[in-house]
Amino acid sequence: MFIKMAVLEQLTSQQAIELENKYGAHNYHPLPVVLTKGEGVYVWDVDGKRYYDFLSAYSAVNQGHCHPKIVNAMIKQAQTLTLTSRAFHNDMLGKFEKFACQFFGFDKLLPMNTGAEAVETALKLCRKWAYEVKGIAENEAEIIVCENNFHGRTTTIISFSNDPVARRHFGPFTKGFIKIEYDNLVALENALKNNPNVAGFLVEPIQGEAGVYVPSEDYLTKAKALCEQYNVLFIADEVQTGIARTGRLLATCGNCSCESKNCSGSPDVKPDILILGKAISGGVYPVSAVLANDDIMNVIKPGNHGSTFGGNPVAAAVAIAALEVIRDENLADNAFQLGNLFRSELQKYIDTSSIVKLVRGKGLLNAIVINDDEDSDTAWNICLALRDNGLLAKPTHGNIIRFAPPLVMTKNQLLECVSIIIKTLKQFE
Ligand SMILES: *Cc1c(COP(=O)(O)O)cnc(C)c1O
Repeated sequence: MFIKMAVLEQLTSQQAIELENKYGAHNYHPLPVVLTKGEGVYVWDVDGKRYYDFLSAYSAVNQGHCHPKIVNAMIKQAQTLTLTSRAFHNDMLGKFEKFACQFFGFDKLLPMNTGAEAVETALKLCRKWAYEVKGIAENEAEIIVCENNFHGRTTTIISFSNDPVARRHFGPFTKGFIKIEYDNLVALENALKNNPNVAGFLVEPIQGEAGVYVPSEDYLTKAKALCEQYNVLFIADEVQTGIARTGRLLATCGNCSCESKNCSGSPDVKPDILILGKAISGGVYPVSAVLANDDIMNVIKPGNHGSTFGGNPVAAAVAIAALEVIRDENLADNAFQLGNLFRSELQKYIDTSSIVKLVRGKGLLNAIVINDDEDSDTAWNICLALRDNGLLAKPTHGNIIRFAPPLVMTKNQLLECVSIIIKTLKQFE
């Protein structure tokens, strides 16, 4: 009785926040707003106030909140079969694997649940390939990563992070990683040459958490060419940039099925290993995946790797529906067009502004840099004011605010959001 009441009671914002503070580990610092409902580009708080969501759960909700097609796929599958483990086959996994392989242009897929698990999977796959195909001596393989990367939170992944808050007092760390500057081809070539033990290069096509750093136009193509030259696997972490977010199906659009006109003329980079998560489920269920061709993926044999929930029938049904929505609603094209509009509208304001230094990004993955110190609280205070004005965003650093709305936004909605953002920034001039 007591528990039932506690769950059903409609909490005020204050009560909900107090409960989290008292009973939850303090591993996040959320903006003070308590959400209870979402639909498309909107979320509502417990008092019924509506907001534009400009974070999209870190780009997991590209298809918009509670997309009916995705939610219905989940309900239907949840009423039929939810989990078999991989000890047995299920009749949904193969369908998902075929669909996603054709969609993204790879031979094989390995299903997991979270982005960090998919990154771990890619690292293991790369190492195994290094020993069994490239011929690196046992335990000598090294993987090149970039400074200011974000690839998740496991012990191995934070081993090659350089965020002191994410690393402090979590050692000892995993060995076998070389860190180089992002967007620096000379640094990459220096790390590759004269080191036959390099197995892979792990890179985000745009560094999202670092503050939406877009590399030089030719960086990814040339990095891929260098990797080929030195027989090193190019591993793209598209957990945040993938699934139409940057105006293309993938930020590294190789030979995927994406027929987006925005891809023509852009550099074609086909990763050897592609890591996906977040929006592959439209934010309704944890799904992640690693894709590669047979020459790489076939090094994985029964017993080498796995996950109880990875590739479960609900995940498979949800992911197929989520990818169909991306295709059927032309979300890559929409992100491309609205992204250009967003940056050009904000740029007009920035030209006259003393509080905002610049806007950058691709498609609907953008950020503004505030004219203040990295450790100031100006970006946080702007986000509080944006909230009061009906738009939710979160700083990635003291002076950077990321803007990443669901891709199902209309032009008029975007223009309304631009005016909310400008009105709010003017309060800080
Ligand atoms: C979010 C993210 C991850 C980690 O995904 P989780 O599902 O939170 O484990 C990995 N890489 C990138 C680029 C991300 O944005």
